[in-house]
Amino acid sequence: MPDSDPKDKFKLQVVPVTPLQQNAMIFWSTESMKGVLIDPGGDVDQLMSTIEKAGVTIAEIWLTHGHIDHAGGAAECRRRIGCKIIGPHKDDQFWLDTLEKTGGEYGIPDAENFTPDTYLNEGDTVEFEGLSFAVLHCPGHSPGSVVLYSQELSFAFVGDVLFQGSIGRTDLPQGNHQDLIDAITGKLWPLGKGIQFMPGHGPGSTFEQERQNNGFVADSVTGYKD
Ligand SMILES: [Zn+2]
Ligand SMILES: [Zn+2]
Repeated sequence: MPDSDPKDKFKLQVVPVTPLQQNAMIFWSTESMKGVLIDPGGDVDQLMSTIEKAGVTIAEIWLTHGHIDHAGGAAECRRRIGCKIIGPHKDDQFWLDTLEKTGGEYGIPDAENFTPDTYLNEGDTVEFEGLSFAVLHCPGHSPGSVVLYSQELSFAFVGDVLFQGSIGRTDLPQGNHQDLIDAITGKLWPLGKGIQFMPGHGPGSTFEQERQNNGFVADSVTGYKD
């Protein structure tokens, strides 16, 4: 039934920002031209002009976690757009409190500390233009990382939890390797092999591809079975 496929009504544009080439994303309804801005880590002028060129009105900012490359530009975007910041989980507030300091270290000079308008918890949903995104709390890369999953689109925004061929680093404060593996196998894989995802860095992929080929979380490594 291609006429009713919700995928046809939504568009995703990836805008790599900051020296860390983080995938900031603009996700919008091509019917209403309303959108959400996901993980605006920096380069706010570039993000604003991309949004303007696309003709999108941003309704909310969503954050997958509190690291500088994902959240550094969020406060300025909130001010310039006049919208709310949704997420991440409150366990990443300690990262949001150090954005100005870490911004200097990572070449993101305009980063600002802030508190989100809403923290996200496991079991929450965020609604957007008729879609429901389920919130999965997936600590390990950072303690407050969340994955946002749409069953309608068979799609997930995963932040730095999972990458094509890799997983998030776990050597930063409050990172934990086993927690990350447990989140991926315990919360993401049960969603199904057919799920496409877009991570915080690099190209998108599918859970199936990662369960076959990812050296950290392939089924042959973790022993995961459906
Ligand atoms: Zn990160
Ligand atoms: Zn990142």
